[in-house]
Amino acid sequence: MIIDGHNDLVLHRWRGEASPHLDDLDAARAAGFAGGFFALYISSPHPSDPPEVPYALPLPDPIPFEQAAPVAEELYATLAALPVRRATSADDFAAGEITAIVHMEGAEAIRPDLSNLESWYERGLRSIGPVWSRANAFASGVPFHFPGSPDIGPGLTDAGRGLVRACNELGILVDLSHLNEAGFWDVAGLSTAPLVATHSNAHALCPASRNLTDRQLDAIRDSGGLAGVNFAVTFLRGDGRRVPAETGIDEIVRHVSYYAERMGVDHVAFGSDFDGADIPHELGGAAGLPKLLDALRAAGFDDAALAKITHENWLRIFRATWR
Ligand code: ZN
Repeated sequence: MIIDGHNDLVLHRWRGEASPHLDDLDAARAAGFAGGFFALYISSPHPSDPPEVPYALPLPDPIPFEQAAPVAEELYATLAALPVRRATSADDFAAGEITAIVHMEGAEAIRPDLSNLESWYERGLRSIGPVWSRANAFASGVPFHFPGSPDIGPGLTDAGRGLVRACNELGILVDLSHLNEAGFWDVAGLSTAPLVATHSNAHALCPASRNLTDRQLDAIRDSGGLAGVNFAVTFLRGDGRRVPAETGIDEIVRHVSYYAERMGVDHVAFGSDFDGADIPHELGGAAGLPKLLDALRAAGFDDAALAKITHENWLRIFRATWR
């Protein structure tokens, strides 16, 4: 059973496009894909994968609540129409089934006074990334730079601090991926839940601004949290190049191994970014997940370690975070 930290299937279905990595949900299920975080993501006019290296893209323009809210409703309806189960408890995940966590990637559809947060919770929302890589009422996202530090821009606003506290109280996971470093440390200082970055890699191996420094990884470990390894080639490769045909599964193994050494295997998971990024052609999509497990076995991960990485760590986080 493989629980995954991030996919953008909903965005593709909402746009009426084919999904590059999850179109065949039966094949994904047969490969062990058990779902995970399904993003409600309101897109900016911005490339989903950065162009040639080096790059230093500015943050896209903010999207006001009035514009975001109706789109979020449509994305939610799109998710609700998928032939998958819905998770509000760790016990909702089951081998042989695909189960979706309703996840907001960027909280633009939450009112800054949080007055509609509870109604979203009642409709199943269990995870919020306060920002995608743009600014909003709650925080500033990290711009896409390569090479670059994640320490770009200000941290949480007062509304952002309120959002984190409200998420802790309701039992909504706060996702640190896409926050800049100041925002990361603000959440770390405030949140009572384990720290989670659903889809971010090791900055020591790939110096993209979207990746996590060793200090951030240590904080995630010390909180009992986890980081999901992102399969985006631009966040895997040391040279940051967007060359999926020339990037192997071994690059994913490299980041999983680094995380396991730095944080311990209890703090490592997958955060594929299926349908949200260019991933190694060798993997292909969710149907290729058994190839990744084989590569991890060959790299020395035993069955107990693979059980943690593929689902047990996520389930521990859900039990510790959700009410
Ligand atoms: Zn993302």
